Amino acid sequence: MNTPKDTPRHQGLRNQLVQILIQKGIKDENVLKALGKVPRHLFMDSALESHAYEDKAFPIAAEQTISQPYTVAFQTELLSIKKGNKILEIGTGSGYQSAVLIEMGALVYTIERQNELYKLAKIALPKLGYRPKRVKFGDGYLGCEEFAPYDGIIVTAGAPLVPKPLLNQLKVGGRLVIPVGENIQMMTLFERVSEKEFTKIELGEFRFVPLLKDKL
Ligand code: SAH
Repeated sequence: MNTPKDTPRHQGLRNQLVQILIQKGIKDENVLKALGKVPRHLFMDSALESHAYEDKAFPIAAEQTISQPYTVAFQTELLSIKKGNKILEIGTGSGYQSAVLIEMGALVYTIERQNELYKLAKIALPKLGYRPKRVKFGDGYLGCEEFAPYDGIIVTAGAPLVPKPLLNQLKVGGRLVIPVGENIQMMTLFERVSEKEFTKIELGEFRFVPLLKDKL
């Protein structure tokens, strides 16, 4: 078996992808730099390798998807990450979004409810040099109280409602980026402006796999 590689050809395709993201309105230089660096093809099934730098979502294991690069960039931009920020991700999936956050210097805690994906990501990320603070198997509706509060929380699945624990686990000044809705989701940004107050902005429609609530 060939060991998966990152080559100048892949780098070239990533540079083209970054140009597409700029055309679609992504402005944050650090976000663009991170998407220009993370080898997305190594987070996908090798059969799909030739498609890895198209701006599309693709299937991964357990009937889930790796998010579209534009969506990853859009959500990451909304988090306004600074180096050393503590970020909680709900829905580890392939680990690609975690890698983008780590590339930007965030300390990443990530939760996945599908055991198969949890196990794969836990191995795949450090193999590629990306070391999250914690990859956790569990229910993202509960957040992760153990390491709270967070500078940012990003939900990468469509949430029928906004889980209260996620709002509670934000620092004052912290941001929650969450797609809310059943079939189509409204990208929603909450900012905790004081212990008890949150601002809310809606930023357009997206389509995600659902944030599942049934038993693990
Ligand atoms: N961030 C991922 C996107 C994965 S798709 C990536 O970059 O590849 C969304 C993920 O959310 C799926 O892996 C799904 O299994 C997971 N998920 C769904 N419901 C969840 C829940 N209640 N808690 C944690 N993860 C959940």
